[in-house]
Amino acid sequence: MLSKKPELLAPAGDLTKLKTAIDYGADAVYIGGKAFSLRTASDNFSREEMEEGIRYAHAKGKKCYAALNIIAHNDDLKELESYLKELQDCGIDAVIVADMGIFDIVRKKASSLPVHISTQASNTNYASVSFFKELGAKRIVLARELSFREIHEITQKVPDVEIEAFVHGAMCVSYSGRCLLSNYMAGRDSNKGDCAQPCRWKYSLVEEKRPGEYMPVYEDDRGTFLFNSKDLCMIEYIGELVKAGVTSFKIEGRVKSEYYVATVVKAYRDAIDEYFEGKPFDPRHIEELRKISHRQYTSGFYFDKPKDTAQVYATSSYIRDYELIGTSIAYDDEKKELTLEQRNRFFLGDEVEILMPGEPFYCMKITDMKNEWNETIEVAPHPQMKVKIPCDKKIYPGSFIRKKKPLV
Ligand code: SF4
Repeated sequence: MLSKKPELLAPAGDLTKLKTAIDYGADAVYIGGKAFSLRTASDNFSREEMEEGIRYAHAKGKKCYAALNIIAHNDDLKELESYLKELQDCGIDAVIVADMGIFDIVRKKASSLPVHISTQASNTNYASVSFFKELGAKRIVLARELSFREIHEITQKVPDVEIEAFVHGAMCVSYSGRCLLSNYMAGRDSNKGDCAQPCRWKYSLVEEKRPGEYMPVYEDDRGTFLFNSKDLCMIEYIGELVKAGVTSFKIEGRVKSEYYVATVVKAYRDAIDEYFEGKPFDPRHIEELRKISHRQYTSGFYFDKPKDTAQVYATSSYIRDYELIGTSIAYDDEKKELTLEQRNRFFLGDEVEILMPGEPFYCMKITDMKNEWNETIEVAPHPQMKVKIPCDKKIYPGSFIRKKKPLV
């Protein structure tokens, strides 16, 4: 008998991304408020946005968790109690914590709030999972350095606690993200969400007595990126994750775009649903994940030691074979005409793909183009331009239109 379908948990860096994640099939989203969360680069949520986002999720039967996972210093705690009250008033479904002081304050001051223990707490064994369960945690987000074998052992030994694991997205070369590299090199604290990503920088060698003489360290002639981790991608291994006892599949990326969130959530939604319908894995899901901006993919530590090299030494650039050309904003049923807001340049005659919730992407050729004044155009050169194109299929607002980038 198949186990219970796992939760698909998506990042929501702002209100629009939250709605996109839910529309494209996430069962739950995680967000950050203006404080206490580990992503200062994402826009994060004001009180009003949080209320609206949680209302939106709940109306569709989905959940919303708030990240409170900074490693706190004394001053960080000052506003915590009032923030917890705000989260409760907004109807948040759980808080994600890493710092034991914050955990304790949540238990004492907001005891009705379910607590998830963040991956930043580095839970790598059944004893620590059991310890947090005894303390009242509802869920443990495991460290990323665990294998299927270890996760299975943990879920066998510590039942009745939810187990969340990362399945997709950027990885840290450091242990579960507890990293001081950014503090040391850029004065920016990754443990407070302000990482400058020095692990992706290009490094040279300097001999102590010859300051200023940078000796190159070459992997090849483009340089060497010693610590630059590949991105995690576990979409082929839904069955293995389920059998290991993972109950929530987490996608990384609160600073990623709406289009990224839509693509990744939809691919995993389809792959999970198909697995539970008894269908074999469809390799087109991986093709989908290659159409977004990404680094090379890896299965991380799931097969014990990484079964492939987990770092990309030659470059820290993203692979971008496709580009988003626009998002749909209206569809005229009578004229069979799609209006889109342009994001990147495109031309009459381009072959495009349209990504929508709940169905396969739709392919078409642009046979005519008009600007918002109904003038015929052959190229849409300016971002944010409104462009009308004929389209036989009804396209809902919020769909994404992309095209393959020309080879240069
Ligand atoms: S420097 Fe790299 S490894 Fe360290 S926290 Fe930032 S992204 Fe992660």
